[in-house]
Amino acid sequence: MSLVFPQPNNPFQGKKEKRTMAEVSASPLKHFVTAKKKINGIFDQLLAYIKESDSFLEDTHRNNDLDPVTTEEQVQEVRGYLAKVAGIGEVLARRHMKVVFFGRTSNGKSSVINAMLCDKVLPSGIGHTTNCFLRVEGTDSKEAFILTEGSEEKKSVKTVNQLAHALHQDEDLDAGSLVCVMWPKAKCALLRDDLVLVDSPGIDVTTELDSWIDKFCLDADVFVLVANSESTLMQTEKSFFHKVNERLSSPNIFILNNRWDASASEPEYMEEVRKQHMNRCTNFLVDELGVVDRGQANDRIFFVSAKEVLQARVQRAQGMPEAGGALAEGFQARMFEFQNFERRFEECISQSAVKTKFEQHTMRAKQMSEALRQIMDSVHIAAQEQRIYCLETKDDRQDRLEFLDKQLDLLTVDCKTRIKNITEEVERQVSTALSEEIRKLSVLVDDFHVDFHPSSVVLKVYKNELHRHIEEGLGKNMSERCSVAIAGALQTTRSEMIDGLTPLLPSPVREQADKLVPRQCFRLNYDLACDRLCSDFQEDISFHFSLGWTMLVNRFLGAKNARRALMGYSDQVPRPMALTPVVTSMPPFPQNSLTQEELMVSMVTGLASLTSRTSMGVLVVGGVVWKAVGWRLIALSLGLYGLLYVYERLTWTTRAKERAFKRQFVEYASEKLQLIVSYTGSNCSHQVQQELAGTFAQLCQQVDVSRQNLEDEISDMNSKIELLDALQSKAKLLRNKAGWLDSELNMFTQQYLNPSK
Ligand code: GDP
Repeated sequence: MSLVFPQPNNPFQGKKEKRTMAEVSASPLKHFVTAKKKINGIFDQLLAYIKESDSFLEDTHRNNDLDPVTTEEQVQEVRGYLAKVAGIGEVLARRHMKVVFFGRTSNGKSSVINAMLCDKVLPSGIGHTTNCFLRVEGTDSKEAFILTEGSEEKKSVKTVNQLAHALHQDEDLDAGSLVCVMWPKAKCALLRDDLVLVDSPGIDVTTELDSWIDKFCLDADVFVLVANSESTLMQTEKSFFHKVNERLSSPNIFILNNRWDASASEPEYMEEVRKQHMNRCTNFLVDELGVVDRGQANDRIFFVSAKEVLQARVQRAQGMPEAGGALAEGFQARMFEFQNFERRFEECISQSAVKTKFEQHTMRAKQMSEALRQIMDSVHIAAQEQRIYCLETKDDRQDRLEFLDKQLDLLTVDCKTRIKNITEEVERQVSTALSEEIRKLSVLVDDFHVDFHPSSVVLKVYKNELHRHIEEGLGKNMSERCSVAIAGALQTTRSEMIDGLTPLLPSPVREQADKLVPRQCFRLNYDLACDRLCSDFQEDISFHFSLGWTMLVNRFLGAKNARRALMGYSDQVPRPMALTPVVTSMPPFPQNSLTQEELMVSMVTGLASLTSRTSMGVLVVGGVVWKAVGWRLIALSLGLYGLLYVYERLTWTTRAKERAFKRQFVEYASEKLQLIVSYTGSNCSHQVQQELAGTFAQLCQQVDVSRQNLEDEISDMNSKIELLDALQSKAKLLRNKAGWLDSELNMFTQQYLNPSK
């Protein structure tokens, strides 16, 4: 497929050119032969080049990975060239030089052709055998044969007589039809050089001159008018060439005044006659037809004897002296003149044929190579522009990627700080709010209204309901206190995070970045779990007389020690926190802080102090009172004491029990809830942290999409650049090939078409 580009100073080529020139000097016809070989070679290369260009453009045009660098018109244009060049190549391969002989019957047209071919190829002397055209052409076959128009049949003819006979026999031959006489090239040098000679029926026997011209003359390079030197040019001969001259521009016409041997019989008039003929013929060519100027006319008009030349050449071919064929005096001069005619004719026909047969196609090839050069140039430029765009895009995406990474690092640090701040704030807020709620727990408990009954079954249900009430109430209060503020702060932080990360998101989601993170209603879950927390609560709703022994001991010793003391120190194991303090106003007894000895000391000291103080008090007060009021008052006091007991016993109703229960519960629950203040705070802050971390993770996911998009774009650009590089270098190569073909065509033009320039 690829073309071979010989170097301009290729030594092989130089040698070839030299040889060609030598051949050209041997026979002017070689000029055409070498030109044909050369132009065919160029067209072969042009065809290969166009095929290569066509598949390149086709592949490029169909490549959807790139933006178009070619147009449909360019592809179609080159496709058109492909068909055109293939057609021209075929035409060029069949190109030959064509000479047509005209003249009246028996002027010696066949004899001239035979003389030029140095053999009796065509029948002569029997008048024109038929009214058809005889075209003599070289064949590589060893045997001569004829081909008739409209038939593929090769009719073998060994001798000229057989040919004459065959032509005579063939009744299918119409007047003006064509018979090809295929003569072995091996027998005749002239035919080896792509020369085709056409013998015509006498122009005096036809009225169809116009159709002859259309059929046989339009591609003729040279016309030879074979005239009879024994008579003057006839009007029929002249008018035929007038018609030819009208149809073709400046046809190459030679006039052969044949049978010049006859002039030898009257040597005294010979010069005179020659002059007359010369003048008439010159006037005809120069003045009437205007095909040559007067200076060139001498090289177009010759006085020959075809019969004599043929005979001499046949003699020589048989090894006998040429002069043996002479018909009259002055043979040598006529022989020279015939050879001179042949030389001029060969020069003329080869120059003319090269021009008429190759010039137009050379021009066409130049136009095509120029058009292809321009197409390849435009493809190269388009690819170049696209490559630059890809490089810029790639750089841009790389910069963006770098920016994105740096920015993401910064924003990650920033978001972490924000999340940390907000979680700390939430923890503080929730802890504070819960502490305050615990302080106001009694209000919540007081709001609880369910039928109370000291029986254990009812109490169990009552407790459960109370737990639920506390749970709900606390939850509600906490969310009233904190949720709105926390949700607001959370939303603000979330918005700030989204705003910060929005520039890094993929463009389609950028505008709706806030929709990206589902705006669910965030609800803090305080998870107070009152039922579990207060499951160990043990109420004490048995009756305790306020001035009873136990209560008095309690008042002096503290609830716990008094209890222990009263229970005979049997309960040595420290009670769990769930132990309900009996008297709410008393300070909480420090747990596990006292040893048994300390208890004993405290107890004994307390008792001693109480006993001594009481005895002392009773004695003193008794003595004083006894003295002052006497026994009545004592009795009154005892009565009052009894009344008070009765009163307290009577007022120890279910309602009082409920109040005591609630008071004990508030005490117990407050203490318990205090324990989970910091846990609840951190639990809530953890929820907020989870929420925001989730948002941040979602945003980061989208940033990763951005990142992936950029990386994809970069790799896409890289592969495009690679493709474009290959495309560009191919387009450049093809552009250079077009340039090389153009220079080849220029060289051809200079060497063969305008050699003088
Ligand atoms: P055509 O009809 O034009 O093809 O003429 P031919 O070639 O058949 O020739 C007719 C006759 O003229 C033949 O008998 C030839 O031998 C004869 N003839 C052709 N050329 C010459 C010539 O130069 N001198 C003489 N004396 N006779 C010729």
